Amino acid sequence: MPQVADILIPLALDTAYSYAVPTGLTLKDGDVVQIPLGPRETIGVVWGVEDRASGGNLRPVSGAIEVAPLSEPLRRLVDWLARYTLAPKGSALAMALRLPDENARTEIVRIGVRSAGKPASRPTKAREKVLAVAADGEVRGKSALAKEAGVSLSVVDGLIDDGALETIALVPEPVALPPDPDFPRQMPLSEAQAEAAAKLIAAFDTVSPFPQMQGEDRDDLAVGAVSSKGEAEDRPQDEAHPRTFPHDPLLPGSAPNGGGAALSSQAGRGDSHEVPRAILLEGVTGSGKTEVYFEAVAECVRRGRQALVLMPEIALTAQFLDRFAARFGVRPATWHSGIGGRRRERLRAGVAAGEVSVVVGARSALFLPFTDLGLIVVDEEHESAYKQEDGVHYHARDMAVVRGRLEGCPVVLASATPSIESRVNTQRGRYGHIVLPERFGGRRLPDITAIDMRLDKPERGRFLSPPMVAAVKKAVADGEQALLFLNRRGYAPLTLCSACGHRYQCRNCSTWLVEHRFRRALVCHHCGYTERKPEACVECGTFDHLTPCGPGVERIAEEAAELFPDKRIIVLSSDFPGGTERLRQELEAVAAGECDIVIGTQLVAKGHNFPYLTLVGVLDADIGLTSGDPRAAERTFQLLQQVTGRAGRGERPGRALVQTYQPDHPVIAALLSGEAERFYEEEIHAREAAGLPPFGRLAALIVSAAQREVAEAHGQAMARVADPPPGIMVLGPAEAPLALVRGRYRFRLLVKTDRGIDIQSYLRDWLARSPKPRGNTKVTIDVDPQSF
Ligand code: ADP
Ligand code: ZN
Repeated sequence: MPQVADILIPLALDTAYSYAVPTGLTLKDGDVVQIPLGPRETIGVVWGVEDRASGGNLRPVSGAIEVAPLSEPLRRLVDWLARYTLAPKGSALAMALRLPDENARTEIVRIGVRSAGKPASRPTKAREKVLAVAADGEVRGKSALAKEAGVSLSVVDGLIDDGALETIALVPEPVALPPDPDFPRQMPLSEAQAEAAAKLIAAFDTVSPFPQMQGEDRDDLAVGAVSSKGEAEDRPQDEAHPRTFPHDPLLPGSAPNGGGAALSSQAGRGDSHEVPRAILLEGVTGSGKTEVYFEAVAECVRRGRQALVLMPEIALTAQFLDRFAARFGVRPATWHSGIGGRRRERLRAGVAAGEVSVVVGARSALFLPFTDLGLIVVDEEHESAYKQEDGVHYHARDMAVVRGRLEGCPVVLASATPSIESRVNTQRGRYGHIVLPERFGGRRLPDITAIDMRLDKPERGRFLSPPMVAAVKKAVADGEQALLFLNRRGYAPLTLCSACGHRYQCRNCSTWLVEHRFRRALVCHHCGYTERKPEACVECGTFDHLTPCGPGVERIAEEAAELFPDKRIIVLSSDFPGGTERLRQELEAVAAGECDIVIGTQLVAKGHNFPYLTLVGVLDADIGLTSGDPRAAERTFQLLQQVTGRAGRGERPGRALVQTYQPDHPVIAALLSGEAERFYEEEIHAREAAGLPPFGRLAALIVSAAQREVAEAHGQAMARVADPPPGIMVLGPAEAPLALVRGRYRFRLLVKTDRGIDIQSYLRDWLARSPKPRGNTKVTIDVDPQSF
């Protein structure tokens, strides 16, 4: 009988398309194929094959493509992702495919360049910049070199022609060697670490694949699916011991019509017998969590399975990779969206063939085609960088829990400052919980003191208060390092004309332009719009009246340079000139003690180990507290704990000083007293009282258009048909928190539901009733928005 294949295409399409399978071609689920689509050929993945007599007038599949097929768990993950986020299924598939782009495939050998050790015949400023970068003798890609030197590609080409640079073929990096789990440890684990590691290792034997994996009906796996097998449990939600807990992506709750079956009931019939879906590894900064989960990675490798370690920011993990090498003898394979075509292809192939045993990667690594995934670690699980905010809006931590479930492998969530969601999940017994309460090696957590800015005022036009200046002075005099933390890039967050009051605003966004003095520019931090800082006010023409308002790190650096003229000062933020590579070198320099004062944004707050750092000065602890976002308290607390936790990780004890106008604010008070538990408890209660996540569910719909009225009208038209049943509230449309971004006006509708409600089903129904957006109007859906 002729066969028909349902092919899912990695485009923004919701359903698979049917194609005839030509005789002689055997296809199975997950195979990657080439197919005609309109006038072109494209690729797709087999999402089902059936024998069907009447497939005659379908277009045939063109052929199979020789790449690893998508495994069943990975296909389930794609289904799940689409159902949960309401993204088109094809868009979810695109996340898992990420085939090398066209250019990369045609580029057989990449050309690298390095210094030929000769000067340029015609030295120019630009040429000198290139040669300065190339002076280290390393081989780099041409464009990488140009970028790092901050010049155009033609300057590099000119130097090649000139003979000052020589070209060399770049051999693609081989796939990483397998790490040796029994590589001799340099230092044994502490007792607390060993105990924690043993608990993690025990999880390998208790976790089993999700039962539905064997099921026929793939919809059973989907979030909020209504069981097709009549397994519906209509047992009412037990308030004291709820079976389902809304933020958990595995979960669903009952459908709004009341007929739905909770997925969790199919998965594990009651919480009490259920194996935890993930394990929260909580330990104060410097407690040695990394070494603990390394033991789980080692166990995974010993069992011949693959491990994935997710990191929020993979570009700056050099220190982490060194530690990995110290533990396992080799560096792991790394993955992020920026890696080039050929390396990406090799790595994917290596992962699919099971040759790559450990991948350290950014959130997109979650969709790699592992054949036998045995462990997922999500490091710094509370990080908001795990949430993808464009395209498919997904949270990598939550999807990691889903993938772990589908693969039947343990998932470890590590953090010094866990998210409220994960905490609540441990309280409900949904996640396991392992705690390392103390720093490794008996080191103490830093003492944290507040500086009340209402009393200890800085001098006019300054931002460092007298006690802060004194503390920095003392630290550097003692040969120690100080970190001044301010989570604001650039020189000043607002520029105004003191003659006419004009404020410099982005022309595409509803944001102030940030002065970047080093670049002599005013820059929008949302769209990147940049203009030269004018000499005279563009509004009134007055000269010399443009006034920077408030500080950014560049301005603090200026102040510090005046106060401490003979000290070595480094400013670290994501605008660091010279790109990631230079930034990495600077971080290494800080770790090696080669500077006295570090001034940095959140970039330096996280993960790094600076053994000489003893003083952390937080310059504006209140920054995040005024935003009106209900997550503001949690986020600020996490960030402040992380940054103050950088102090005293080496031999000498650390301390932190926190400049604040609100020393009595619960966030600041908890930070000072070290009562993290109490802060979390209060925050959890407040969320519960307000029905906010994870106690209620939220989705944000952003309606955007080039004209304000069009966006608003479409939002209103949607609101008119929202028709929410009991337990669901639809708010808005109201101007989105950022009302204009990149020239598009944005209105927001918020959907707020009681817990246990299948928000996805409601959204789908509502969208189906809503008018279709036309012209340039767009509706984007964000389930579990990070800010609300
Ligand atoms: P965390 O991730 O909890 O902040 P780390 O794993 O980075 O903590 O450990 C903090 C510091 O203690 C690091 O410098 C690390 O090298 C050191 N350390 C942790 N465990 C050990 C160990 N068993 N032996 C030696 N040094 C350790
Ligand atoms: Zn802008």
